[in-house]
Formats: sequence, structure tokens, C-alpha cells
Amino acid sequence: IITKSDDDGDNINVVVRVRPLNDKEKRGSDKCVIQFPGNGQLLVDNTGGSGSGQKPKLFSYNVVFEPAAIQEDILQFSGMKRLIEMSVEGYRCTCFCYGQTGSGKTHTLTGPPGLFGLRPSSYSDEHGLIFRSFLYLFQLIKQKSDVHFILKASYLEIYNEKVIDLLNPGSARKPLAVRWSKKARGFFVENLFTVDCEELDDLIAVLEEGLRNRAVGRHNMNDYSSRSHTILTVYISSEQPAENGVFLSRSGKINFVDLAGSEMTKKTQSEGKTLEEANNINKSLMVLGYCISSLSDQKRKNSHIPYRDSKLTKLLADSLAGNGVTLMIACISPAKFNINETINTLRYAARAKKI
Ligand code: ADP
Ligand code: MG
Repeated sequence: IITKSDDDGDNINVVVRVRPLNDKEKRGSDKCVIQFPGNGQLLVDNTGGSGSGQKPKLFSYNVVFEPAAIQEDILQFSGMKRLIEMSVEGYRCTCFCYGQTGSGKTHTLTGPPGLFGLRPSSYSDEHGLIFRSFLYLFQLIKQKSDVHFILKASYLEIYNEKVIDLLNPGSARKPLAVRWSKKARGFFVENLFTVDCEELDDLIAVLEEGLRNRAVGRHNMNDYSSRSHTILTVYISSEQPAENGVFLSRSGKINFVDLAGSEMTKKTQSEGKTLEEANNINKSLMVLGYCISSLSDQKRKNSHIPYRDSKLTKLLADSLAGNGVTLMIACISPAKFNINETINTLRYAARAKKI
């Protein structure tokens, strides 16, 4: 149910998760158009017997997760653990989920809704990758008893190029500014809450609080979440005693990004009035794809990379451009009904990996 390519991944890892057919698709006797030849490959077969004229398309990635893969498999086999290990060592890493609405991005990152209030002692099989990463992070930190760690976390949403602090609901009325810091040589969000997290529970509280605020006040716009990006960031700084009373300090971080639905452009364009939103969403996903494919291309790596073209890429720039690792989880539906969006997602993901 999980197949890997020989390529162990370098600074950009691309994996695909195929969700199971849902009840509606099963009732409508939709069928699965994805096949799994192994070795991190995946075949989209829409030939469906006679005369469609389309050839099956083969794609290959670092890892492919078949529908039967469980939440813990994503932590164990996606390369995510390496990102966490590196962030503890002072690198800046990013994990993002890409795919059309309903493909399983939020399920993969946070799990199904309604998991609030569960503490590690009672966490369920359904808890997502962020939660599992927190557990692993604390496991690593506990092992390094000679290092003093300071953890902080922030959680924001980018909607229509406006940055909203999910830990400070008041910011919905007055979006936050993204500025360039000369000193830090990077972009940052002005006045963003960053919460000290001494314990695992503090990190989990940040996740819960952000999810709660994301859900509140959005009821008159039920597809809000498909139009916005969210970024949960854990900042990990540490000091380790070295020789002559000197301290070795490191500061890494890890971003978890739940991207807007990749289908939004066409859908919103047909609605007309949200064209600006559509353009902004489409643009940031395009810019992100372009930045990542440039970075994975040795020839283009040192050329100009257009991080400044969207808020999303500005905020991910330090992590994408640094020596850390980026993990892209492309989420797809297996259903024939979604085949066009699925192929778009698979192409986007394949482009990110092209070397
Ligand atoms: P997205 O965030 O990409 O819009 P969701 O994560 O909300 O999609 O998933 C859509 C629906 O499919 C949800 O009800 C979710 O619980 C379900 N789902 C997604 N992936 C899986 C999976 N791997 N196993 C079981 N249910 C899933
Ligand atoms: Mg979602």
C-alpha cells in the first residue's frame, strides 16, 4: 500500500496520497482510475474499454500512498521525520499539501474535524500529520538532554492575499502586513502572535485554537477553507554548551501548509464576482510551483526566483531557499469524476520534482 522509488529525495521530496473512494462516489458507481504499478509510480487509466482515445498516463514520485495507507504511514514513510530531525538541527523545512478541494489535504494534515480536546494519551488513528509530527518532535527533544530548546508556534491564514492571524481572531478585521526584515534578511508578518510552547500540550493547543478560529465566523461562506492557505509554523531554537563555556545556538523551523484548492481558478471564474480571489489563489499556487521547480532544477537554482510575487511564497522563501527540506504531499481522488483535476495535480507535482 506504500511504494517508494529508488530516489531517496534530496531537498525536495514529492509524494502522492490517493484517498479512498467516498460513499457518494461508491453510490454513484464511480470507479477508481488509478493503478499502482509500484516503485513510487502511479498510472492514470481512463481508457475505460473502447474508443476514448486517451492513453494511460504514468507518473513517478518519491513515494506513493495507496488509499489503504493510514495516517501514521504518512509520518513514517513520507520523509516527514527527516524534516523534523533537520528542523531540530537548525534547518528550515516546509511540508505542504496540494490538491483539489475534497482530495484529503486537511485530512492528511490535521485529520477529520472534531478531534479537539484529545490529548496524546487518547489520540486516535485519525489524527493527522501535524499532530504526529508534534509527538515526534518532542520525542527528539527529550532525547537531547544536553540541549536547551525554546519552542514557539504561530498559525496564520492567507485569504485573498490578506494575512489573518488564526491565534488572534481580531486580525480578521485588520489584516497583518508582510514586511522585509533587513536584519533577518527575510520576510515576516508584523504583529503575528508567536506562542511559547514549553510542553507538547502547548503546541497542540495552538493547533486546536487555530482550527477553532478558522471555523468560527465562516459559516456564511462554507467554501472559505478551499480558498485560503494556512501556515502553522513551529520555531525551534536551541542552545548547546560547547567548549570554553561557549554556546552553540541554532534556530530552525518547520512550516505545515494547507493550500487552497487547486481547482479554484476555473470554478471561481465561472462565478465572475470572485475573479480577484481566483486570480490571487491561482497566482500564489502558480508562483509556488514555479519557485519549487526552479529550486529543484540545478541549472535554475541560482537564477532569480520570484518569491516576491505572492504572500505565500514570501513567507515560505527562507525555508524553500535554504538548506532545509521541502516535502510536497499531492492529494488526489481516485474517482473517474475527478480525473481532470487529478491529472492537473499529478502534473504540478511531477514538475516540482523535475531535475
Ligand atoms: P481537502 O482539505 O483537500 O478539501 P478533506 O481533507 O477535507 O479535503 O477531505 C474531504 C473528505 O474526504 C473529508 O470528509 C475527509 O474526512 C475525507 N477523506 C480524505 N482523505 C481521506 C482518507 N485518506 N481516508 C478517509 N477519509 C478521507
Ligand atoms: Mg481542506
